[in-house]
Amino acid sequence: MMQVHEGQCGLCTHFGENGAPDDKLIQIRLKHEAPEDLIEECGHPRHAPLHLKVTPMSGCAGFEAAPETMNA
Ligand code: SF4
Repeated sequence: MMQVHEGQCGLCTHFGENGAPDDKLIQIRLKHEAPEDLIEECGHPRHAPLHLKVTPMSGCAGFEAAPETMNA
């Protein structure tokens, strides 16, 4: 497992946003750690048409904190 920090995709609301609801993503947001080999599509409106794939440790200026991270 890798630590995921504020500003990185794993804690962003757009990480895997357009996929099926996924408990794995919720766990990452709660625990701030993620598997090294995880890749998800970014659902940010500017990335979705490009099908950008990111790791939990990636990041960009479009970061928006996922709601679950705010309760942790
Ligand atoms: S690439 Fe940017 S917008 Fe997409 S999940 Fe990562 S931080 Fe969020």
